Amino acid sequence: MSTNSNGSKLVIAGSGFAGVWAALAAARRRKQLGANVEITVVSPNAFMGMRPRYYEPDLARSKIELSYLFDPVGIEHVCDKVTGIDKAGRYLTLETGRLHYDALIWAIGSAITPPSLDGARHLFSVDTFADAEILSEHLRNLPEKFGGDHSSATVVVVGAGFTGIETATEMVSRLRETFGGTTPARVMLIEKSPTIGPDFGPRARATIATALADMGVEIRVSTTLTSITNESMTLSTGEVIQTRTVVWTGGVRADERARLIGPPADPEGRLRVDATLRVLDSENIWAAGDVAHVLVDGVHPALMSCQHAIPQGKYAGHNAMSWLTGSTMKRYAQSLYLTCLDLGPRGGLVTLGFERDDIVCSGSDGKAFKQFINTDNIYPPLDGNVESMLRAAKPPSGGRTASAFMKWMLRSRLARSSITGRAGSGPAALEEARKRGAPKRQKEARSGGV
Ligand SMILES: Cc1cc2nc3c(=O)[nH]c(=O)nc-3n(C[C@H](O)[C@H](O)[C@H](O)COP(=O)(O)OP(=O)(O)OC[C@H]3O[C@@H](n4cnc5c(N)ncnc54)[C@H](O)[C@@H]3O)c2cc1C
Repeated sequence: MSTNSNGSKLVIAGSGFAGVWAALAAARRRKQLGANVEITVVSPNAFMGMRPRYYEPDLARSKIELSYLFDPVGIEHVCDKVTGIDKAGRYLTLETGRLHYDALIWAIGSAITPPSLDGARHLFSVDTFADAEILSEHLRNLPEKFGGDHSSATVVVVGAGFTGIETATEMVSRLRETFGGTTPARVMLIEKSPTIGPDFGPRARATIATALADMGVEIRVSTTLTSITNESMTLSTGEVIQTRTVVWTGGVRADERARLIGPPADPEGRLRVDATLRVLDSENIWAAGDVAHVLVDGVHPALMSCQHAIPQGKYAGHNAMSWLTGSTMKRYAQSLYLTCLDLGPRGGLVTLGFERDDIVCSGSDGKAFKQFINTDNIYPPLDGNVESMLRAAKPPSGGRTASAFMKWMLRSRLARSSITGRAGSGPAALEEARKRGAPKRQKEARSGGV
């Protein structure tokens, strides 16, 4: 193990939730230890994408320029794709060259798996920022391109998990806006399991089913898609639906390049890591976010969610920097788990626990909480204050937020007042930040404590 950090290099592959927080946490730890370590993030985009918002109609606020986050704290960004790795030689192969590392954090995330069926190229998705932009553009152009016929005002969403439900419920109002009420909008949700929201418990599913029924979303369960053209789709039941828009949301798996790092630990292709998030059988590689298979509370594996990716990024960044400097690493744990589902005009649904059936709030309270998550909670501080950015990167204590406290907080009216009372991050701050430009790099960023 390296105990001399002089001139060492920490590389982070990926700049999503796990990658960005890993970089910021490493910068915080570097400053705390007074270490001389270069931090470099490599990813194909110059922005951090707020993936949980890609089902929303307004995408403008779903990305944050990396330079705004990284420049002030001395993190370098290389805009490129990782294509390979030489673990013995300690370098990554990029599309345009090589990148040496002493320690590596793998945070390349996940992607949906499109089905292999006739016409799969006609499917839309909300998986990446580019996919979401293509879908938005397509929806905007529907009336002009295809007129107000029923096939253009019909959207089919395949997969009734979290993303499918949120996409379908949002689609109802998006279609109404697009067609201005002239053509009746039709939204359909297709699920191969016998029930919609198969990962939710029965009470939560009942709330979701009521919301979908109220909005007129048509449901087909125990059904799959067998073929698709640019004007229709065929279901496994033989039903043919005339539509110009089929959105695929199923089969999320860790990015396939994870295989370069180690064998898959689960059917999602994630990497097995120890409690410090270091990849098993590796000395100097950590994994965080959608690529890491780790038990969050000793029992439940982490979900592919930013709820787990954000703290994991902080732990991985802290630990990789600690290892490079011969300092103590921290064990990752996270006892609280909640889900927060957007049900479009019918509000939101918040559940606590891995059974996803203990309903904390729903309706307008659920919606307010979801908006708080999507517009504030998942954003790094964007107030231009370097210290608050580094402070936010501290790995959270796993047991700090007791479930009982959280339950009380969410159930009480305080939830709403704290939602409206928070400031300093989220899109409002993002607008401000854009106007202001990147904060000046702080010369003292590598000394002193955070
Ligand atoms: C529509 C939608 C809604 C969601 N809603 C929620 C929600 O409500 N709550 C929740 O907790 N989670 C939600 N999720 C899941 C959540 O977004 C992911 O779990 C989270 O983004 C994972 O973070 P990550 O950093 O591991 O991966 P990502 O955020 O996917 O980041 C991966 C990074 O790797 C980069 N990358 C890709 N290929 C390469 C390469 N070859 N070389 C280098 N870099 C590369 C990408 O550009 C990106 O920067 C949602 C996801 C989607 C798609």
